[in-house]
Amino acid sequence: MEVEKLGDEAVEVLSHYLRVNTTNPPGNEAAGASFLGDVLHDHGLEYRLLEAAPGRSSLLARLRGSGEGKPLIFLNHIDVVPAEAEGWQVAPFSGEVSDGFVWGRGALDMKGMGVMQLMAFIAVAREGLPLRRDLVFLAVADEEAGGYAGAKMLLEKYPEELEADLVINEGGYALTDLVPGKPFFMVACAEKYGLWLRLLQRGQGGHGSMPTGKGALELMVRALARFLERKRPLRINPVMQAFFTRLAEFWEILGPYREDGKLETLMRVIEENHLDAVPALNAVLRDTASLNVLHAGNKINVIPDRAEAFLDCRLLPETEAPEFLDFVREALAGEGLEIDHFQDMERSPSSPWESVAYRTLEETILECYPDAVVSPFMLSGLSDSRFFRARRVPCYGIIPARLRLSDLPRIHGADERISLQDVREGVVFLRALALRFCA
Ligand SMILES: [Zn+2]
Repeated sequence: MEVEKLGDEAVEVLSHYLRVNTTNPPGNEAAGASFLGDVLHDHGLEYRLLEAAPGRSSLLARLRGSGEGKPLIFLNHIDVVPAEAEGWQVAPFSGEVSDGFVWGRGALDMKGMGVMQLMAFIAVAREGLPLRRDLVFLAVADEEAGGYAGAKMLLEKYPEELEADLVINEGGYALTDLVPGKPFFMVACAEKYGLWLRLLQRGQGGHGSMPTGKGALELMVRALARFLERKRPLRINPVMQAFFTRLAEFWEILGPYREDGKLETLMRVIEENHLDAVPALNAVLRDTASLNVLHAGNKINVIPDRAEAFLDCRLLPETEAPEFLDFVREALAGEGLEIDHFQDMERSPSSPWESVAYRTLEETILECYPDAVVSPFMLSGLSDSRFFRARRVPCYGIIPARLRLSDLPRIHGADERISLQDVREGVVFLRALALRFCA
């Protein structure tokens, strides 16, 4: 079958694509975009390069439909995060194929998905069926640095080119050990938003031999320690409640909630079993703050009069930023710390999971992966979906790679890899999805 041949080609293409170093910064996505363009060209298909800045290209290819519906966009990003060879079993930009996997930075996040989408796009093109809406393949620059030279810029510059009824992007994977024997397809329908804070503490400088307890660093450390003790309240939002409802079909621990379906029962079960002690669950059940940068002092015998810290705060979509800032101010009050709210990472509405589009996605997953469980989920991080969701375009984030929980650190970590089976089946799945929406 034709599509199987494309699956083999997908493995080959991915192995080469992983050798194109698109580490961001600086990105150099032009090299990745021209690589993808060559593959399209080899299959007789056209594309456009959209440039945000020199070297920062995105690529768009379109199969025209009748216009009955707005397009379906297959969205992926070309750039990857840095990789140090140390700690890897293979060279991170080797694209090595061994032990049933393609290895390399970007295999999971998200060149693997980019290639699956590309080959599915090519499969649909070769079938030549009449389409009722356009199918768009969109590979963008700069996702890993916030999307400002990628998706965000493209939506501002080419809004009519990027009109869509639906976007399929990254955001979730299929976890294999949440429910034994059943890959759990976590479809990202929402994401948290970021709020970045810079804290400045001034204090009394002096000689290290004569401590006063009023040095900037000591004041700041004490204030931050108090702050980090404070937890934001647990909050189960609708998308996470939908996730737990699905999970409750399989997890005995959620039995009481399965029986009565009440939010307060779910809350009690989560609290009693300390499920929020799992960082991945904590991150989707409350607002969080991570203290990631601290600058103070430069000499062992000098008390610094100035200290600066950066807090990476991630807020549930339901949280109002001013209310969160009040919480921070109140928790840090007393020592004259200045709080500078220097950047918001865009808040976006969730995409519906009780819609025809979501159901179609779910049905296609179940058809291609008969053992699967499909559930809506919220991403604790950020993705380019937020720019589309802000324009009310439904976005679903799912990379059809079956992973164990212990594989998750490979994303942005060492030994990133994707199985050959996942790549091949992913092409079949995305082709089927495109045909369901477009044909
Ligand atoms: Zn990514």
